[in-house]
Amino acid sequence: MYLHEFQAKGLLRNYGVPVPDGGVASTASDALRVAKELKGDAWVIKAQVHAGGRGKAGGVKVVKAFDQVYDEATRMLGMKIVTKQTGPEGKVVRRILIEKATQINQEIYLSFLVDRDSEQHMVIASSEGGVEIEEVARDNPAAVIKAQVNPVTGMGLFLGRKIAKAIGLDSSLLTRFADVANKLYQCFVDHDGMMLEINPLVVTSDGEIICLDAKMSVDDNALFRHPKIEEMKDYGELEPQEVRASIFDLSYVSMDGNIGCMVNGAGLAMATMDIIKFNGGEPANFLDVGGGADVNKVREAFKIILTDPKVKVIFVNIFGGIVRCDLIAQGVLKASEEVPSDRHIVVRLDGTNVQEGRRILEEGAAKSGLNIVTGDTMADAAEKAVQLAAADQPAKKRSAAKSA
Ligand code: GDP
Ligand code: MN
Repeated sequence: MYLHEFQAKGLLRNYGVPVPDGGVASTASDALRVAKELKGDAWVIKAQVHAGGRGKAGGVKVVKAFDQVYDEATRMLGMKIVTKQTGPEGKVVRRILIEKATQINQEIYLSFLVDRDSEQHMVIASSEGGVEIEEVARDNPAAVIKAQVNPVTGMGLFLGRKIAKAIGLDSSLLTRFADVANKLYQCFVDHDGMMLEINPLVVTSDGEIICLDAKMSVDDNALFRHPKIEEMKDYGELEPQEVRASIFDLSYVSMDGNIGCMVNGAGLAMATMDIIKFNGGEPANFLDVGGGADVNKVREAFKIILTDPKVKVIFVNIFGGIVRCDLIAQGVLKASEEVPSDRHIVVRLDGTNVQEGRRILEEGAAKSGLNIVTGDTMADAAEKAVQLAAADQPAKKRSAAKSA
């Protein structure tokens, strides 16, 4: 789960990490009030969307008068931010962060990640902050310093100083940098962070070290032990299908193909995408309905899949281990009645009561005129799904289904 900059900075503040004073606003007059409360003579207005590169896209502005605060806030709220990370559709700005502006002397890059290869954390630092680290890594790889941190022993001031030296920080700043880096690391670990990126971490004209930006994501699987973080989830930032899926406890990730998948179990869902690809097709999504695929879940899953206009075929691939195939078959039949006639449905069932399940599906489909194709094996069904998707032919009219 991604946090907004202001949310991440709130967490960092609790750890004693220096961040600029600021407040959030969702209207221009609120923004003005925040700026007046902050006092000072310059402020930064920052769009709160889950995407980097806001600066280049007009989402970060330094202003020097109250009327500019108001004008910039008016311009930014409701605008669409389009960056590399948002894709062409962009993200609508619903909230802005107003901060006291900082006098920057030097911009540094500092981030913490989970490093799966070494099964440890990784710290990445660079003297070239303020630009994307991928660009620095490409153009000047020597400027990117990496170090592993053992989560058991933690970071320690020593490593912090070593990194500060390696990126060429002035010797007067080594201890201060190490202190900030250690507090950042602690905050990252305590919240089960996946990534914490401070770009830029700046040295101010007064020699202070301050986090000007903060991008943080935490492990979804650990949210159960961070209820305060879970409350920060911004549903406005998710795809509408993903919101619906989370309500019904389904895992859904949308993709670019035209074969919608409904599968139980993440492993089978992966295998399903693989076998579609193997047959030359493209999955439209990853969708795991979990162990209990009852009628309601199947119906919701179909609805979510069908919100994607690219979907031509729904491929149902269910293994009846905990759930029985006959119950799933009934669920699929019921849910299929609401599927528009120009979409195909391909079903592969296996497991407990599979014969009964297939009989129910085949008889039910024949009786109601539903255009359901069944596959004997996963390979067979995948092949049929790919063929139907490729044929680009509307399926037989299914209007008879309703009156039958
Ligand atoms: P991002 O583009 O989404 O990464 O947003 P950032 O928060 O990193 O802001 C982009 C850039 O705006 C930074 O790299 C800074 O150069 C600049 N910036 C942000 N805050 C301030 C500030 O308080 N003062 C000054 N002078 N520049 C700032
Ligand atoms: Mn940044």
